[in-house]
Amino acid sequence: MNAKTKRLIKLDKEHLWHPFTQMKEWLASDPLIIEKGQGNYLIDTEGKKYLDGVSSLWVNVHGHRKKEVDRAIKSQVDKIAHSTLLGLGNTPSIELAEKLVGIAPKGLNKVFYSDNGSTAVEIALKMAFQFWEQSQKNNTKRQFIAFTGAYHGDTFGSMSVGEIDIFVNKYRPLLFDIFRSPYPYCYRCPVEKDKKDCKTACLDKLEDILKEHHNEIAACVIEPIIQGAAGMIVSPPGFLKGVRRLTKKYNVLLITDEVATGFGRTGKMFACEVENIVPDMLCLAKGLTAGYMPLAATMVTDRIYKAFLGKYEEYKSFFHGHTYTGNPLGCAAAIANIEVFEKEKVIEKLRPKITLFKELLKKFEDLTHVGEVRQIGLVAGIEVVADKNTTEPFPSKNRVAFKACLEARDYGVLIRPLGDVIVIMPPLSIKDSELKKIVQVTYDCVKKITG
Ligand SMILES: *Cc1c(COP(=O)(O)O)cnc(C)c1O
Repeated sequence: MNAKTKRLIKLDKEHLWHPFTQMKEWLASDPLIIEKGQGNYLIDTEGKKYLDGVSSLWVNVHGHRKKEVDRAIKSQVDKIAHSTLLGLGNTPSIELAEKLVGIAPKGLNKVFYSDNGSTAVEIALKMAFQFWEQSQKNNTKRQFIAFTGAYHGDTFGSMSVGEIDIFVNKYRPLLFDIFRSPYPYCYRCPVEKDKKDCKTACLDKLEDILKEHHNEIAACVIEPIIQGAAGMIVSPPGFLKGVRRLTKKYNVLLITDEVATGFGRTGKMFACEVENIVPDMLCLAKGLTAGYMPLAATMVTDRIYKAFLGKYEEYKSFFHGHTYTGNPLGCAAAIANIEVFEKEKVIEKLRPKITLFKELLKKFEDLTHVGEVRQIGLVAGIEVVADKNTTEPFPSKNRVAFKACLEARDYGVLIRPLGDVIVIMPPLSIKDSELKKIVQVTYDCVKKITG
């Protein structure tokens, strides 16, 4: 280890507090310090290269140091780095809004910016609540419905609609109550099936709640097509369409949280397109700037926007805004991101890569400690289990998936688990040979750790 690495690790351990990290474990570890990136690789302070198998936590899209995105940010810096959207406009935020409206599902005509996925969801919740307050006399639609296993971010509103126990349980007394409907995690089906398939049973549950409580519910929030943090749970075909049908039928707004799925992850630009639905609100963040800058957007329909119009003294404005809202550098990166999608026909070219990925993942089926392998587009979750037949998990203190991911580092691959689920989520720019390496290394490491 060189002197620079030693010094940085020492200072990191002295002064930094890492997110979602047991710092005691971190202090005992040999952390990698990333210094550079190039294409689909991260390079540490020792000069060692690693394939970025989780797109730097699900954000990177076209690889690191993508020429067009680098250039857009540099050229924006030469004009201005930041100016506010409170009382002023700025060029890139306008141009990006036009582009987003152009590519989003039809009807989402208004863009409200913030800077991360949690706030994009928080904003959608506040807008949905205020929408009903301002749309009808004696409004009673003041609650939300969300799904089992949901993850929507770490602020209080987004935690309230989320349901991953170890993330939110400690804060439970501070969270607001919501209605909870089962997400079809067919592998461990969350409902009594009584001969129905999991999808139908879950939609029936949703309808039961909506039928009884629609007058109390402002909006339904969902991770469309795939729940990320829950362990890459891919919903069965038709589920999202069913959710859209029911929310419409019972006059409940639909918020799709595409923070993780947006920008090509599922093989379509947006997951909503997989089942051709249009939500009332769409939340975007992670991939929005190609993984370069913290920027988020909450997109809504004209119907929602119009409920906020009125005389100043009616106070119908949306009283919410973050200091860096519409940051020009972030918006410039996002415009360049979308232009790369257009110029390089990224979505079309993804198809053979997705087929290859699906093919490569098949070999996990013969591992005795791999349960379900879930995949859509360029994302997969490989569930490690103690017993394949009973789907019994390993004790969580064994940290089996975590150990397999640590092992993969020695072979030049960076991946990160969610509990017992190993995630593979490479940049969309991943090359066939690189994809093969990531899957092979993951396979070998799971086999070694569970063997
Ligand atoms: C990551 C994520 C969030 C939170 O985004 P942050 O930028 O980390 O606040 C919200 N929803 C989903 C689906 C996510 O994957």
